Amino acid sequence: MNYYSLNQKAPNTTFEDAVIKGIAPDRGLYFPETITALDPYFFESIETLSNEEIAYEAIKQFISPEIPKDILKSIVSETLNFKFPIVKLTDSISTLELFHGPTMAFKDVGARFMARCLGYFNENNSNEITVLVATSGDTGGAVANGFLGVKGVRVIILYPSGKVSNIQEKQLTTLGRNITALEVEGTFDDCQDMVKKAFLDDELTSKMQLTSANSINVARWLPQLFYFMFAYKQLKNKYDDIVFSVPSGNFGNICAGMIAQKLGLPISHFIASNNDNNVVTRYLKSANYNPKPSVQTISNAMDVGNPSNFIRIQAIYNNDFYSLKSNLSSYSFSDKETKDAMIEVYNSTGYIVDPHGAVGYLGSKSYLTNNPSAHCVFLETAHPTKFLDVVKEVVSDDIPLPKQIKSVIDKVKVATPINNYLEFKAFLSQL
Ligand SMILES: *Cc1c(COP(=O)(O)O)cnc(C)c1O
Repeated sequence: MNYYSLNQKAPNTTFEDAVIKGIAPDRGLYFPETITALDPYFFESIETLSNEEIAYEAIKQFISPEIPKDILKSIVSETLNFKFPIVKLTDSISTLELFHGPTMAFKDVGARFMARCLGYFNENNSNEITVLVATSGDTGGAVANGFLGVKGVRVIILYPSGKVSNIQEKQLTTLGRNITALEVEGTFDDCQDMVKKAFLDDELTSKMQLTSANSINVARWLPQLFYFMFAYKQLKNKYDDIVFSVPSGNFGNICAGMIAQKLGLPISHFIASNNDNNVVTRYLKSANYNPKPSVQTISNAMDVGNPSNFIRIQAIYNNDFYSLKSNLSSYSFSDKETKDAMIEVYNSTGYIVDPHGAVGYLGSKSYLTNNPSAHCVFLETAHPTKFLDVVKEVVSDDIPLPKQIKSVIDKVKVATPINNYLEFKAFLSQL
């Protein structure tokens, strides 16, 4: 599959090149040249297929011929070696649990898939690739874990000091080997700016091959379309009108869901559920896209002021505001509403949602007010124990820690403090 740059000022290129570059030379995001719908029979009979079979069929057009069939099959099955269960909460609301991977965040799938693709492309290459990642919390851990030990690839993670949860910090600072954590005195936006600056810095890029493992990278972004198919497989015989509520930050996950819909997944509508970082909620009301600096919330992985994937969503809808609006609703919720929702779900069902899932739950409820016949599935994007401080405020019971969390909690953090771009550049230059 070839990819074009959404800025339209760079040559089209292969999947391999798009993964290795991360972003096009004109700073545009890569987008597939074509999206071919799958045979309707694939969806009619989806419950007879394994998750690996579904994922392989859905992704192959975007990857082949650069990765041969057998290798792609094993990449897919190594990526998906955990469960994606649906839990029904009410007659109209279910949740899709995406937190059963090694770092208990949905980003595990994209990170594991991308790491394996890059590992394959770099197998016979003597040049090391340096992956730069800015994280507001979960990306860092998932990428660190996914890339650990991948030959020829080193990973540099930038995270905002004091603004990620204790467990998130442990997950990204304790692995060692080819993974390095930089603790930035500043916000997530500062981390992201430093990464962007490095990509534009000819002095660095002439010496080293830099790429990104944020969802701007097609190999991180596209595999997220699997989730929507796995949910449909479990629900198609129970409900006619399935709607997804996606807790959104950079809008990579929901945008991958829209690609699944383009492939023919029979889904009627999407809900982008936001915290106070609500540029898309405001856009759908006013038709004005007006990004603002991010504000800190308890659903920190969604604290994004200017979602990088929104431009891909606009490409899917040919920049037509009304056609987008007919397929997408968006609501935004405060921290107070989010905590109240965590209490409400817990008291009425016994289920503990994390703050991100709670925003997704609230989006489902808002949508159902005017669309009572829909069945809403909100994506539970992280395990609640990753946000223990918040969860303990609302849930009185002791919550057992899963093994993935227990295994990092007593490890010793190793991180290099970085105060500004010059220090970051100096660090990269001495590698
Ligand atoms: C990254 C993340 C999100 C937001 O996903 P996007 O693809 O950036 O919209 C939501 N919840 C959690 C827990 C995350 O880690």
